Amino acid sequence: MKKFIVIGVLAAGLTSGANVRAGTGYAMRCGVEPAAEPASGQAVRGCGYRVRVTFGGGMFFSQITAYCSRCQGFVYLSWTPDRGLPEGMPRREATPPPTPLGQVWDPVTGRTLTLYACPRCDGPSVEIKRLEDLVHCPACGAPGFEVDPTAPVIAID
Ligand SMILES: [Zn+2]
Ligand SMILES: [Zn+2]
Repeated sequence: MKKFIVIGVLAAGLTSGANVRAGTGYAMRCGVEPAAEPASGQAVRGCGYRVRVTFGGGMFFSQITAYCSRCQGFVYLSWTPDRGLPEGMPRREATPPPTPLGQVWDPVTGRTLTLYACPRCDGPSVEIKRLEDLVHCPACGAPGFEVDPTAPVIAID
């Protein structure tokens, strides 16, 4: 499935000759398994958090994926880049990419994170560049946030 989509993206880039990237939507889930609490021995339910997260834009738009702590959800900052599209494609007015609020250094990972104003609440939201960077569940904070292997991966054009 994944392989097929990657091939599809490459083919689209080759045939159009334009700088076109397709986005991909993943069904994510908290990987915390239901387990017995060590102290009481009582069963603890997994977090159960599920959400669809998209990375990348489409043929007509570019998109940044971010997470807003205040909204407690994934948010998307989209814009229309000025790029060459194949002949006959409808054209849209180009819009500028969003300006970051700033950058912060994360002492835990040693990486620099970019913050953008959340399109919903205007609060700071942190950019998530790649699927691989989504390690912890946003709902419970536990490691093991993962792609649901039973759900389809959706390509966005
Ligand atoms: Zn927000
Ligand atoms: Zn969780």
